[in-house]
Amino acid sequence: MAWMLKVLPAGSGKNCVKMAKIIIDREKCKGCFICVSACPKGLIKPEKTLNKKGVNPVKFAGDDECLGCCLCAIICPDCCIEVYK
Ligand code: SF4
Ligand code: SF4
Repeated sequence: MAWMLKVLPAGSGKNCVKMAKIIIDREKCKGCFICVSACPKGLIKPEKTLNKKGVNPVKFAGDDECLGCCLCAIICPDCCIEVYK
């Protein structure tokens, strides 16, 4: 599977997640920045610090604005991004 979308159970309790949550495996990331270009909201940004591969990985910057569209996860060639909503 090239990407992952997990849907949490519906409900109105305080544990219910309304906005999408993005998790990026920074050590797996190869710094190609395809996801940076793909995000329609510009929420994936390059990090300033290097990972163990010696490249600048990406980070997620913007919980409230994320559309949960999964484009970032779908386009990543190395399956580094997971989208939870
Ligand atoms: S799910 Fe969509 S809006 Fe959210 S970070 Fe990924 S590409 Fe951007
Ligand atoms: S597309 Fe994947 S490997 Fe490339 S920068 Fe984004 S998270 Fe890293």
